[in-house]
Amino acid sequence: MKPYSFCPICGTMLDRAIIDGRGRKVCLSCSWVHYINPLPVAIAYTLNKNDELLLALRAHEPACNEWSLPGGFVEAGEKAEDGCLRELREETSLEGKIDSLIGIYHREVEPYGSLLVLAYKVVVEDDTIAINHELFEAGFYPEHLMPEVRIPLHQEIMKDAALYEPVQ
Ligand SMILES: [Zn+2]
Repeated sequence: MKPYSFCPICGTMLDRAIIDGRGRKVCLSCSWVHYINPLPVAIAYTLNKNDELLLALRAHEPACNEWSLPGGFVEAGEKAEDGCLRELREETSLEGKIDSLIGIYHREVEPYGSLLVLAYKVVVEDDTIAINHELFEAGFYPEHLMPEVRIPLHQEIMKDAALYEPVQ
């Protein structure tokens, strides 16, 4: 993210100061402080009734042409669970239900900066997929037929999700 040079409130040139233990840009005219917070992302680890996992081949950067779990940015005013299901619906037209929170993760990703990632286990009744422009391909895969997922965060979520699977 390109740093601010001028105050977005009053237009004064910003100075730097240590506030709450960190160097931050600050406006000495109106006291505005440029706090930089992580962006929330929701990811859907989505299973159909046969316990097959939804994987999607991304058609955009970052990680273009990589197999991934669907997900995206949570909007302002939106619950993370709703953002998770909305992103799933937009990318694949699937109507999911939240089963559980798998975990919360942190990543630094260009060009977004810090991401706060909430990964949910989602279940679908009807697993008929219609992908949008964000994907090249998507499908539900049993473990032995899964394409290789190489995005480290998604590998970590898949590993953590597997720990929650009930023992048969
Ligand atoms: Zn200002």
